[in-house]
Order: sequence, then structure tokens, then C-alpha cells
Amino acid sequence: MTVPQRRSTRQRSAVSAVLDEADGFLSAQDLHARLRARGDTVGLATVYRALQALAGEGDVDVLRTDDGEAAYRRCRSAEHHHHLVCRRCRRTVEVEGPAVEAWAQRVGAAHGFVDVEHVVEVFGTCARCAAAGTGPEDAQTTAGDHTRADGRRV
Ligand SMILES: [Zn+2]
Ligand SMILES: [Zn+2]
Repeated sequence: MTVPQRRSTRQRSAVSAVLDEADGFLSAQDLHARLRARGDTVGLATVYRALQALAGEGDVDVLRTDDGEAAYRRCRSAEHHHHLVCRRCRRTVEVEGPAVEAWAQRVGAAHGFVDVEHVVEVFGTCARCAAAGTGPEDAQTTAGDHTRADGRRV
């Protein structure tokens, strides 16, 4: 299927705009739902393609959550950094990890590896969600279809 360039550019801007408004990581399904809520009748496959293109150009950070789902976010910082992610509301804080940087280089060098890279994301429950108890988690869980084959709760 060939998508005209102009159309695909407009859809990418729409996806970008939703990411700009979000204060945490969004899954492709979350993004799709937000676009539709704005009256944008974009397909989920198109959202995936737009996200992949944006991520490929480094405009969007991709996070593999602890349940294996890909989530996307427009990062405030272009520099290398890590994320502290609330596993209930997905609120995200960008953090630096000098100890992690040093450790990754050291352990790579110790084994003769060059061009060492790393991906480190820290998950937890943010202060707001912790104070709210279990309510938000239940709301999040029933809001989307997050049932996993292994039945594991996040
Ligand atoms: Zn939270
Ligand atoms: Zn790092």
C-alpha cells in the first residue's frame, strides 16, 4: 500500500502533537485512542508506522516496559539519559545515571567490547500513585486491555 507523502506527514504531525501533550510514555494503542478522541480517524497501523519513523529519526524515545510492550515518549532532553517510570500511571522522570555510565564502560572494556551501549529504565510507583493506594492501578488496568497470557500483574 502506498501512502501519499503529504498524508503521511500530516499523520506524523498529529502523532507528534499527542506526544508533546503527554507527560509520560504512551503505547501505540494509547496514542491511537487519544487521536480518535480528538476526531482524528487515523488507523492503528498508521500510528505504528509514524511512531517507528519518529523513533528511527531519534525524535521519540522508545521504552520496552517490563511487560514487553513498546511505549513512546517525546524526550525533553536530546542527551543520553534514563527514565524513572511509574508502572501505574506511566508518569516519567528523566534521570541521569553517572554510575551506570561508568559501570557499562568498565564492564564492556573488561571483556574487550567496544562501542558499548546500554538501555536502563527504572520502574516503580510514583509518590502520587503510592499515596492514592491501589485505586489508580485498577482504573488503568480496566481502562485498556492489558490482560497478559501469563496473568502477571504489573
Ligand atoms: Zn504514578
Ligand atoms: Zn546511560
